[in-house]
Amino acid sequence: MMIENYIRDIQGFPKEGILFKDITPLLNDPIARKECLSILIESLKGQKIDKVIGAESRGFFFGMLLADRLNAGFVPVRKPGKLPFDIISASYELEYGTDSLEIHTDAIKKGDKVLIHDDVLATGGTAKALGDLVTELGGEIVQFNFLMELSFLNGREKIKDYPIFAAINY
Ligand code: IMP
Repeated sequence: MMIENYIRDIQGFPKEGILFKDITPLLNDPIARKECLSILIESLKGQKIDKVIGAESRGFFFGMLLADRLNAGFVPVRKPGKLPFDIISASYELEYGTDSLEIHTDAIKKGDKVLIHDDVLATGGTAKALGDLVTELGGEIVQFNFLMELSFLNGREKIKDYPIFAAINY
């Protein structure tokens, strides 16, 4: 079973010049999905996880599966204005301008062991913002994990102080 075979390349999405990695075939296949989940779980080598943080929106899919398998809480990190309770936010660079992400202030307790998950590690801006939110709330980052890493973009440089795992490398 090669989970790579369930990632589809879409040329020119969302705009010209971008090669988009589409994970929907992986989500759509129960065997490939289970295999991918096992690979991510094995990389943790039995380390205890209290909370899994998933980034809107493609980080929610496997983020929730990971939390369920690890008997951990699941925490959604969302785009501005979506979360109803008290929040903190972290901003990150886009190609043009900045964007931000928000988390509920009561989502992580000081000392919680946290797994941060997203689908793709590209330039690392999103991952860095996720890490900043967790650290600000006093969580301990056990690992950043991703379905895939676009290593030519060198995103891991932005989160180099932490363990990083990707099920697939490009
Ligand atoms: P970064 O902040 O540049 O590392 O970009 C990572 C974020 O952009 C993640 O939340 C991904 O969901 C999204 N992303 C970037 N490239 C792709 C892609 O090729 N496929 C799917 N999502 C992507």
